[in-house]
Amino acid sequence: MIVFDLICGAEHRFEGWFASSKDFGSQKRRGLVQCPSCGSPEVRRVPSATRFNRGAQAPKPSAPKPEKAPEMEGKDPFAIAQMLYSRMLDELLTKSEDVGKAFPTEARRIFYEQSPARAIRGQATQEEHDELVDEGIPVARLPVPPGRLNRRSGVAPASPAARKTAGGCSRRGRGSPA
Ligand SMILES: [Zn+2]
Repeated sequence: MIVFDLICGAEHRFEGWFASSKDFGSQKRRGLVQCPSCGSPEVRRVPSATRFNRGAQAPKPSAPKPEKAPEMEGKDPFAIAQMLYSRMLDELLTKSEDVGKAFPTEARRIFYEQSPARAIRGQATQEEHDELVDEGIPVARLPVPPGRLNRRSGVAPASPAARKTAGGCSRRGRGSPA
């Protein structure tokens, strides 16, 4: 994981988390990096505070060091995981269509190209979920904390591109603890 300080056209500063700087470039090109304040996809990187302080001793390109996010320092791994999960959840909940109990049917229809390709979320029983997995349909089972939806949601990213964004750290196979 790498954290970039980003700024949008309206001068909103925020952080973006990416697998690599290449991943950032790829997501930016596809308009997936958006300002959380105004939704603008016109974002650019700004030097982070930590890099500023290092001044002339910036690391040489030949010896890249993994960067530590200032907000992660001193926090326990569980809190960090929770924070990352919460961000990912926000992303998923705002960028997918809620199809409710029709989730298994709709996920199947999208997979077999009987419905327009898109990211959806909704509910499925364990059995329905397992059937989707058995059919090779990419779905993820996500516990949603109370106050968000107060229930579990399944999310089926519609396209390979969406799947990469949405499913990265949450895809679960059959039999893993839910
Ligand atoms: Zn903005």
